[in-house]
Amino acid sequence: MNTKKSNYKTTLWSSFGDILVENLKRNLQRKYGEKNIQCDGCGERIEAVSNRKKYCNVCWREKERQLKRKSWHKNKSKYKNTRSLEKTLQTLDT
Ligand SMILES: [Zn+2]
Repeated sequence: MNTKKSNYKTTLWSSFGDILVENLKRNLQRKYGEKNIQCDGCGERIEAVSNRKKYCNVCWREKERQLKRKSWHKNKSKYKNTRSLEKTLQTLDT
């Protein structure tokens, strides 16, 4: 049974191995083609789908989060009153 199994595997590999290798080569060519850039965050190779995109999906998500945080800081003067209120409460506490 074991021999049968490994035989099957070998057959599978010999018939599909070449195709798999070809596919891998093609993928690599596409991956490292002209339209290929390096992620500004982690250096991962990514496809340059647009001129604006400079990050891989992981870093882009992280960047988006940072941008959101930044915009919050921009608008934080809106919360200034709340913050000074917090401070007053803190001084009252101590
Ligand atoms: Zn990245």
